[in-house]
Amino acid sequence: MHREGLRCPKCGSMRISIVAGGQFQLKCMDCGYTWSPNLVPSGYIEVNGRLIHWTEVEAAVEKLLRELRDALEGAVDCEGVKAIIARYINVLDADRISKTVRNALVQAEPNLRLKGRSFMEKYSNSVIECVNGYLNWPPPRP
Ligand SMILES: [Zn+2]
Repeated sequence: MHREGLRCPKCGSMRISIVAGGQFQLKCMDCGYTWSPNLVPSGYIEVNGRLIHWTEVEAAVEKLLRELRDALEGAVDCEGVKAIIARYINVLDADRISKTVRNALVQAEPNLRLKGRSFMEKYSNSVIECVNGYLNWPPPRP
């Protein structure tokens, strides 16, 4: 992750990574210093009418991607997929969730392929259909 203005407070390095886990934290990849960033007024993203800092959005996307990939590798059903997405609906907009689902499917593909190519294709399509129905995405054209 390389962001203008995001530097390690200890050594000044710009090689910063996000620490996986509950509270949002950043870690310097050079000196190992870990800290909770002070959110700056710029850099917010509007999600469903709320202002959310991009760092929170990015952390949520990564977390959702991991959770979905693990679930999809186990060929979770539509209800299971919806239960995961429901936890992110306040932080991520439909566009981001929809993209993350597609990424998770790509990552789960090697595992799903073991169950057969036609299963994989059918399953991928059913997941996308399930998610799009849940999110009402893409929005209907006027
Ligand atoms: Zn550092």
